[in-house]
Amino acid sequence: MTDTIKYILEENKLPKTWYNINPDLPSPPPPPLHPGRLDPLGPDDLAPLFPMGLIMQEVSMEREIEIPEPVREIYKQWRPSPLYRARRLEKFLDTPAKIYYKYEGVSPTGSHKPNTAVAQAFYNKEEGVKKIYTETGAGQWGSSLAFAGQIFGIDIEVFMVRVSFDQKPYRKIMMESFGAKCNPSPSEITNYGKKLLSEDPSNTGSLGIAISEAVEMAVQREDTKYALGSVLGHVLMHQTINGNEAILQMEQADDYPDIIVGCTGGGSNLSGLLFPFMGQQLRGGKKIEVIACEPLSCPSFTKGKYAYDFGDTGHVAPLLKMHTLGSTFIPPATHSGGLRYHGMSYHLSHLLELGLIRAKAYGQKECFAASVDFAKQEGILPAPEATHAVKGAIDAAIECKKNGESKTILFNLSGHGHFDMTAYSDYFDNKLGEDIFEEENVNKALADLPNVA
Ligand SMILES: *Cc1c(COP(=O)(O)O)cnc(C)c1O
Repeated sequence: MTDTIKYILEENKLPKTWYNINPDLPSPPPPPLHPGRLDPLGPDDLAPLFPMGLIMQEVSMEREIEIPEPVREIYKQWRPSPLYRARRLEKFLDTPAKIYYKYEGVSPTGSHKPNTAVAQAFYNKEEGVKKIYTETGAGQWGSSLAFAGQIFGIDIEVFMVRVSFDQKPYRKIMMESFGAKCNPSPSEITNYGKKLLSEDPSNTGSLGIAISEAVEMAVQREDTKYALGSVLGHVLMHQTINGNEAILQMEQADDYPDIIVGCTGGGSNLSGLLFPFMGQQLRGGKKIEVIACEPLSCPSFTKGKYAYDFGDTGHVAPLLKMHTLGSTFIPPATHSGGLRYHGMSYHLSHLLELGLIRAKAYGQKECFAASVDFAKQEGILPAPEATHAVKGAIDAAIECKKNGESKTILFNLSGHGHFDMTAYSDYFDNKLGEDIFEEENVNKALADLPNVA
């Protein structure tokens, strides 16, 4: 046995394709529906929102999709991202399990989000788009799209959930440094934002609201579009660069995961790591246990309903069949802004229904405690969202210890927490509240689910 802790790939080994899970699924996921007609969307319905290159990826049945050369060139700045074996953490936990993590915090903006931001900006540029509107929670997505927009010469305007806008001012400054504009949401810029603020001036916002604002602006002009940082199939697919790399790196380590763990907000970082492995499983390879980790305060998978629901609060975005807490549910303000989404990827929801993955919900305090244990051993301070994956992986390793099993655990460390020190500070000062699952508010929001046959 060697004591290697870091598996890197040479630049010329960077995978040339993204992986599309659609052709390998035992049955296709239910299709997105039009928000007005409530029937399946055609490509033309999506044209006001997205460039055709991305729309065609959403419905593609090709297994390998070539990564355009200009996108690969930009990826090379930080990709392949390292795969680490957490040997010190294993020793600290005194577990027979082997723990690996793929570290996406090495990207310019500190998370996995640029993997899709760069691709989306590229396809928009190809089709002559001048400006993209988007939403952001904690600001990871907004700063990633701002970075990508600057590279391709596209204006970016971001609607940032107000609670995070106030909690994380540095993310806004980062977006501005890249030339983007960042507004708190709800805002006075859109009709929907004005309406919400007139009803409640202290509305703290949600990802669902910010999406409605961005869509409202995007559809007004032909040369402006909208971009989503998670949830949709093409976004998940761009993230598979990470899993494609991980397959090669696990080969270097002469190992293969028994368990894959990730945190889930809209599902993109877990899917990006998981899908290439899941594809191997679906084509007859080894079965993997998958644990999707979500916050107790916004538990779409573990407490949501599997139903068609709107992707946004203002009901202008497509409906997806997904695990949802209801599109009007505003999750309690936590530091894990990127996980405060009422819904979930329709692909991951489908996998959960098929029994191919399972989900666990964790409270923020136990996640920060796990994250600090991790940081002490590995020297990396995880983003608040990623602390859920750390907690899930540590739990799995402790389970292995109880059962005397030396399983191989692979988790995605989706980003670093260098902009989130307030969250750690609140944790150390014992100011983090216990997670509240607002069952009554969820029930109210679920009562408004659209009536789809
Ligand atoms: C946005 C974000 C998430 C949650 O989004 P997913 O689409 O579920 O991956 C998780 N971790 C980090 C660091 C993020 O920025």
